[in-house]
Amino acid sequence: MPIVEPNQSKRVLVTGANGYIALWVVKILLEQGYRVRGAVRSEEKGKKLLDTFKSYGSEQLEYAVVKDITQDGAFDEAVRDMDAIAHTASPLSAVSEDPDELIQPALRGTLGVLNSALKNGPNIKRIVITSSCAALLHNVTAPTEVFDENNWADEAIGIVKEQGRKALFMEKYRTSKALAERAAWDFTEKHKSEIGWDLVTIQPPFVIGPPLQEVKAPSELNVSLDTFFKNMCTERPEDVLKGSYGYVHVEDVAKAHVDSLKTEAAGGQRLIISSGATTWQNTRNLLKELYPKLYAAGALPIGYPQLPEVILWRYDAAKSERILGIKYKTIKEIAKDTMDDFIARGWIKEAQFNN
Ligand code: NDP
Repeated sequence: MPIVEPNQSKRVLVTGANGYIALWVVKILLEQGYRVRGAVRSEEKGKKLLDTFKSYGSEQLEYAVVKDITQDGAFDEAVRDMDAIAHTASPLSAVSEDPDELIQPALRGTLGVLNSALKNGPNIKRIVITSSCAALLHNVTAPTEVFDENNWADEAIGIVKEQGRKALFMEKYRTSKALAERAAWDFTEKHKSEIGWDLVTIQPPFVIGPPLQEVKAPSELNVSLDTFFKNMCTERPEDVLKGSYGYVHVEDVAKAHVDSLKTEAAGGQRLIISSGATTWQNTRNLLKELYPKLYAAGALPIGYPQLPEVILWRYDAAKSERILGIKYKTIKEIAKDTMDDFIARGWIKEAQFNN
């Protein structure tokens, strides 16, 4: 199947372009010579996007305003003249308990992009969708299971169907990602004789690393970095710190999106993009080795260094290592890049008073 080589004649639409992961995708696309159109929800967000990458100029980066991704035909204009799409836009939080607040934008947004590509994107060769490990995991209680690309979050879909608004937020989020991703695969299969593209889905676990978006305070961080900040820099109960998580550097996630455009063998694949798994307390213990002075000064809370280690969320990333040739950044590199950024922003002292 076709691939999309980086040069100034190749144009890539990035949806949700102002988001945490998407800004890294845009950065790497621009660095590699692609022309980028970022889809955002308002003019203001578009202007901010151009400002973030002003050194590249309007020849290489432009924006399209797509106010509501759930509307039919929302992406009809945005996909015109594109050679590829990276679809990242999807909600990670909700204001009400209604599962549809997450499910509808995820599902309708994904189908909307694909329908518009079918209608107005004759040159589109590859579509990369930011799915998630959330779309493939189920609840586990023992550290025996390793998830791979054959898994699907059917358990969460069943729970949300049964419990509706009462289901846990994570079950609703997993459902939104699984339904959207499955709809994308089904759509691509159904229309295979009419389309010129193939599909890749990127499945990261918990994404960490320095943000490129404007953030004036930790409370403005995206969901994963906000959790990392709270779990590393503020007092947290034992129950939280003994919890485990799969992790990956945001730059590796973004590179995986871009490499998926350029790698023929990525077409038609779900790809777990994951560096490893650990506990929050282990991460604190690692930070103590990296920043002994900050801990000695009481600027960062150590928590419970002797907590037993039970790691539940393990993912097999062998396929992405093989196909994309990724050498994942270690948790030490990821944690250091992120904390150095927090320190540079002057947030660590603030954390002492943020308990
Ligand atoms: P951000 O919140 O930083 O970015 C989300 C992007 O999606 C923003 O551009 C946001 O627009 C847009 N968006 C959210 N809800 C809607 C909606 N209802 N309609 C239109 N646009 C919407 O999050 P991330 O960068 O972390 O997430 C990007 C993608 O990566 C998502 O698909 C997420 O599921 C996936 N992912 C994230 C992980 C993580 O740990 N961060 C892990 C695995 C997958 P606006 O700014 O206007 O709200």
